[in-house]
Amino acid sequence: MSETISQDKAVTIHYTVKNGEGVTLDQSAEERPLAFIFGRGMLIPGLEKELEGKTAGAEFNADITAADAYGERHDGLIQTVPRNLFGDQDVNPGMQFRATTDHGEQSVMVVEVNDTEVTVDGNHPLAGVDLNFEVKVVDVREASAEELSHGHVHGPGGVEHE
Ligand SMILES: [Zn+2]
Repeated sequence: MSETISQDKAVTIHYTVKNGEGVTLDQSAEERPLAFIFGRGMLIPGLEKELEGKTAGAEFNADITAADAYGERHDGLIQTVPRNLFGDQDVNPGMQFRATTDHGEQSVMVVEVNDTEVTVDGNHPLAGVDLNFEVKVVDVREASAEELSHGHVHGPGGVEHE
């Protein structure tokens, strides 16, 4: 029986994602598709919308705006903090770390460093970027009770526990 993609189904896809300039940002490896439980925020909202209702074998191409992908960029997520907060640690542009900010715990990237200050950007690296997805749905099935309780798919493309 062929299942359609809906809430809590175990879904396996192959995908290629490009930015607005057609540069490939990421893609699933041939032998390692992406497996996930649908409807649990594993994917960007725009891609979940496109996938909903599809069945195994479906192939499609979707333009997804930044707002439906990783969100718009917010200047408020760029902050300057005293250099001495980092102690003796080397701090260089491009470094990423977890930080507690006004918006909660998030991943931030160092964008600028001088003798007294460090500027960090809490925007997702793909914030403000429109994306294009080429997707092939490999498999759609019921998730097992164990997968649902773990919140992820087991086996190839998902989580392989010891
Ligand atoms: Zn598990």
